[in-house]
Amino acid sequence: MSLAFSYYMPTRILFGVGRLKELAAVPLPGRKALVVIGAAGAMRENGYLDRVAEYLRRNGAESVVYDKILSNPVSEHVDEGAALARENGCDFIVGLGGGSTIDSAKSIAVMAKNPGEYWDYIVGGSGGGKVPVNGALPIVAVPTTAGTGTEADPWTVITKSATREKIGWGTDATFPVLSLVDPELMLSVPQEVTAGTGMDAFFHAVEAYLATVSQPASDHLALEAIGLIARYLPLAVRDGSNLEARTKLAWASTGAGICESLSCCISHHSLEHAVSAYYPRISHGAGLTMLSVSYFSWLAERHPERFPDMAAAMGEDLYALEEERDKAFGFIIALKKLIRNIGLHEEKLSAYGVKREDLRAIAENSFYTMGSLYKLTPVPMTVDEVTAILERAYS
Ligand SMILES: [Zn+2]
Repeated sequence: MSLAFSYYMPTRILFGVGRLKELAAVPLPGRKALVVIGAAGAMRENGYLDRVAEYLRRNGAESVVYDKILSNPVSEHVDEGAALARENGCDFIVGLGGGSTIDSAKSIAVMAKNPGEYWDYIVGGSGGGKVPVNGALPIVAVPTTAGTGTEADPWTVITKSATREKIGWGTDATFPVLSLVDPELMLSVPQEVTAGTGMDAFFHAVEAYLATVSQPASDHLALEAIGLIARYLPLAVRDGSNLEARTKLAWASTGAGICESLSCCISHHSLEHAVSAYYPRISHGAGLTMLSVSYFSWLAERHPERFPDMAAAMGEDLYALEEERDKAFGFIIALKKLIRNIGLHEEKLSAYGVKREDLRAIAENSFYTMGSLYKLTPVPMTVDEVTAILERAYS
């Protein structure tokens, strides 16, 4: 078998407990930051915004705050945040919070330097597919959840509400130049968010391992992240103050983010984006989890090759199994255990108010908006098959 791959991972990552304070001393990419935070208020309540502003000040940088980002972030806020950055002469963008705020920071960084509207540049769905020739302002990421891995990849996922399109997009310019991953900031994450974001990181690793563009470095990191999350996510959900578990999960999330840079997610993510574009109340991690048993059972049946490695990484004992199919389904058994151990076992699409008559439209939407990931999925899929996967996840 021949081996060929591309490796590009340009982000400086400062990882470790207590390292946020290094923002006061590390070389910054500019003198005036737009700090992007969520609308829910946690960054103010936890004192994280004050700390970041103070560290930036000590490091010689002013800051302006944009605080409207929703948990499923929308393109209107990208355009508004970019206008604020331009009006204030900001020369770099800081994303502080969960994946939605850091993703928005990336998109704002692009629109602060390029004309038109954000959706003009999106590839997929009704996006204009234009190239942002001016690049982006430098991006600094400070994640406060262990989930998206956006601190270590170029991807940003934004929704255009009017047309129900939730599309991931990115360029080399949307890799953060600097990410401070401080597990101490994650101690305050509530139980349900810990579970959902942890499962998001888990599926980034799983999908990167299964994608047709996987490579040796992403394979190593994916199995590492899968094993760490299977072991430590239930501990962090049970006891959010467990700093060891928070630290392992922060590394798993960042490692899985690197996987998203070196390999890629597959159509499980296309499908979830369509679900939460229709039902924005469903968080990304919860949506992925609800779809996962149905989706990966379908895939393991048709393409069992890489599933046993993941089952073994999760601690499943495959020793007595002889059939390849049984070994592959060891992963499904381990997945169900993990979901049960973090308290999400009864989640079904129907419980979130999803209408059965929308399932086919959701399947079609996933091809329209995020069809590119179907091309990286190891088995071709049709709209009928995807609708059937949704049906099985429904009730
Ligand atoms: Zn994700």
